[in-house]
Amino acid sequence: MKVKTFKTGLVILLTSACMSGVWAQKYVMVIHGGAGTILKSTMTPEKEKAYRAALSAALQKGYTALKAGKPSLDAVEAAIHVLEDSPLFNAGKGAVFTHDGRNEMDASIMNGKTLEAGAVAGVTTVRNPISAARAVMERSEHVMMVGQGAEKFAKEAGLTIVDPSYFRTEERWQGLQKAIKEDSTKSVLDHGSKKAVLLGIKNRDNKFGTVGAVALDKDGNLAAGTSTGGMTNKKYGRVGDAPIIGAGTYANNATAGISCTGWGEFYIRSVVAHDISALMEYRGLSVAEASKLVMDKVGKLGGDGGVIALDRKGNVAMPFNTEGMYRGTVTDDGKISVEIYK
Ligand code: ASP
Repeated sequence: MKVKTFKTGLVILLTSACMSGVWAQKYVMVIHGGAGTILKSTMTPEKEKAYRAALSAALQKGYTALKAGKPSLDAVEAAIHVLEDSPLFNAGKGAVFTHDGRNEMDASIMNGKTLEAGAVAGVTTVRNPISAARAVMERSEHVMMVGQGAEKFAKEAGLTIVDPSYFRTEERWQGLQKAIKEDSTKSVLDHGSKKAVLLGIKNRDNKFGTVGAVALDKDGNLAAGTSTGGMTNKKYGRVGDAPIIGAGTYANNATAGISCTGWGEFYIRSVVAHDISALMEYRGLSVAEASKLVMDKVGKLGGDGGVIALDRKGNVAMPFNTEGMYRGTVTDDGKISVEIYK
């Protein structure tokens, strides 16, 4: 009789543990490579393979760092390097062109343990803008540096400086030519948008690829980072949400790490990343509930895109309101998963 009671109790315990998610898979890293009108019908098998391989390689790099006991900041930086160095994504090599035919990049990074943050905007010579953002955070008393000042700082910090032509890819260049030809006065978002189409701002060249990563290390510290070339045909020194702490990137050990991709102006106005964290901190929402609520808000305003978020317990959320989002996760036991479509 005693054994039976024990068994019954165990079954109840196991069932409720599973239902409450106690033994749910623990994620240690989540990344994105941009959201937009990403359709299987317009993707070639070769290209899809290349995207999946690049996302997996980035996750593997981040996971290796985490398994070696490195801090989450190292994992985020390492994963983003892989994506910045790949011409497939709109960050680092492969960044989109401004109206003037330049590649002006933005990036930011945040430490969830200390709430320290760093960002650069409008840089044209720093090979890995995410490292410049980290240098601003760790080696200066500032949070954000822009343009030539940021480039000078990055050089003095010993980062790899390249000729601006390094960032040029033919595909992005053709994207700009197309955008200029079709509409020389309106900026073309790097991701599709119904609202943009309504406004006459069309996504004619279908380019995607802002990148971001969030990691949770062995010590329970979160970090988040985002890197982008912004949007094709951008003018007047336009800066999006990616380098703005609280809009495109946020990390707080008390809540989650968040990185965004989408129509930057809406993400700035909705203060997306911090809003998700605040809903978790002040209203006790889960990472999934908070991310969904804030993405709904962005959608109602007319913005499109997605977010990735990872909380301090290893729960992940990746909502988006576009046709697709390049995204991937890795669990504590090293299982990598990559997804592209809805
Ligand atoms: N959020 C980026 C920006 O507006 C672009 C993107 O994520 O596609 O600069």
